[in-house]
Amino acid sequence: MPFSRNHQPDLWAETPAQPPIPAEPPVLFEDEAERITERLLALTHSRFRMGWHLKAQQVRYIHEKGIETIARHAEELIASRLAPAAIPNDGSQTPMKGHPVFIAQHATGTCCRSCLKKWHRIEPGKAFVNLPILGTT
Ligand SMILES: [Zn+2]
Repeated sequence: MPFSRNHQPDLWAETPAQPPIPAEPPVLFEDEAERITERLLALTHSRFRMGWHLKAQQVRYIHEKGIETIARHAEELIASRLAPAAIPNDGSQTPMKGHPVFIAQHATGTCCRSCLKKWHRIEPGKAFVNLPILGTT
């Protein structure tokens, strides 16, 4: 697998206390989990997608805010910038730097509706329901 730990800070070096595991995590049907795994494996074949890594400042931000807050940010950013049927600036709505969620979106092919179609087969032009991340909402 073309992945090197040397390209990214150790995310677990100073791990703060982990939030409790939600009593009832979001339900992913077996075939949905398989679909996500297949898509993530496909992304590893893209040099562009594999080139995205969090910088130390972004890792610190995640530690400071906590993963539940970052998950909430992700839900809000996706709901406002990606989920609507019509996005006036589609293709440029996700900055190339800044919030760690933006970096994760580029790494996972979830930065715009075109990339959602290409990588995740989610058709543009239709609003979609945003699934909760980490079962936080
Ligand atoms: Zn895109």
